[in-house]
Amino acid sequence: MTGLSDSFQRPINYFRISVTDRCNLRCIYCMPRDGVKLMSHGDILTYEEIHNVVRAAAELGINKVRITGGEPLVRLGLPGLIRMLAQIESIDDISLTTNGVLLGRYAAELKSAGLRRVNVSLDTIKPERFQYITGGGGNLEDVLEGIEVARSVGLNPVKINTVVVSGTNDDEVVDFAAKTITDEWHVRFIELMPVAGENATSSQFISVGDVRQRQKILGELEPCLPSVGNGPAKYFCFPRAKGTIGFITPVSEHFCIQCNRLRLTADGKLRPCLLSEDEIDLKHPLRTGISSAGLKKLIEEAAALKPKQHHLAEGYVPKDRPFSQVGG
Ligand code: SAM
Repeated sequence: MTGLSDSFQRPINYFRISVTDRCNLRCIYCMPRDGVKLMSHGDILTYEEIHNVVRAAAELGINKVRITGGEPLVRLGLPGLIRMLAQIESIDDISLTTNGVLLGRYAAELKSAGLRRVNVSLDTIKPERFQYITGGGGNLEDVLEGIEVARSVGLNPVKINTVVVSGTNDDEVVDFAAKTITDEWHVRFIELMPVAGENATSSQFISVGDVRQRQKILGELEPCLPSVGNGPAKYFCFPRAKGTIGFITPVSEHFCIQCNRLRLTADGKLRPCLLSEDEIDLKHPLRTGISSAGLKKLIEEAAALKPKQHHLAEGYVPKDRPFSQVGG
């Protein structure tokens, strides 16, 4: 194993894989107002193709994989992919990001296939607002049940990711924080990035510094260690709380210096950075018989293309794909 790194000596050991561009929800800040042109079945990588890419990546030093989308649980047979990836010897952490609507149905099967843990995106705990933010297509009750089922089958810690949108759910930041005191909720507040959705403009932005300020009403937050993972969140908890609070600041205080990831889109493009339009196509090479050595070379090229940092602060926003197609 050589250990993959980029041009800025950042070690790259983490793959985020979008398995579909389809989603059962239409979150207002994630999907463009006019919808998106969906990929066809033949456009997206098969599970065997994804497995080939991850096997090559693992030989370069990738050991963590996160499955995302679109909504990954709408793609049929996902536990089968997890099982295939879990058999790659050096892959020791497979996780999933989901909106949670179908989680209750699949959690046990995913766990026994080799999934380690799950992040659930949840922006409100008010049923009607849930319908508004997500455009219908699911129920808050199903997501809350999904969280409980995931926890009960051992997909722990279940982390709850909350994107804070000014004027939409920022009045709930204290309610979410209060849940971390009474319940074993691990909530991470994420800053809205100004890409794609109708409600993802800078006027909807609120910094997590502001969020933290508002939560002072509940007491003083103390720094604490993450229960697992070494991602970009900074963790805190209230005294005697059962859960934790994480703050993720892609906009107000970016953490590109720590970036350790490459993304694979559902249609087989390796994307060195969420917030840059550069991509390297793997699908055509995969379908024309590329060798494992050839794949490894393309993965190294993608790592070398990683920019030093994103340029949101200078007003640069990638326009090529909405979040639902890159795999947030
Ligand atoms: N469907 C899955 C889910 O809901 O978690 C996976 C895909 S979704 C695109 C992944 C994450 O991206 C979600 O947590 C979502 O809230 C986040 N996201 C989407 N658009 C965003 C934006 N403009 N800024 C910040 N996060 C965003």
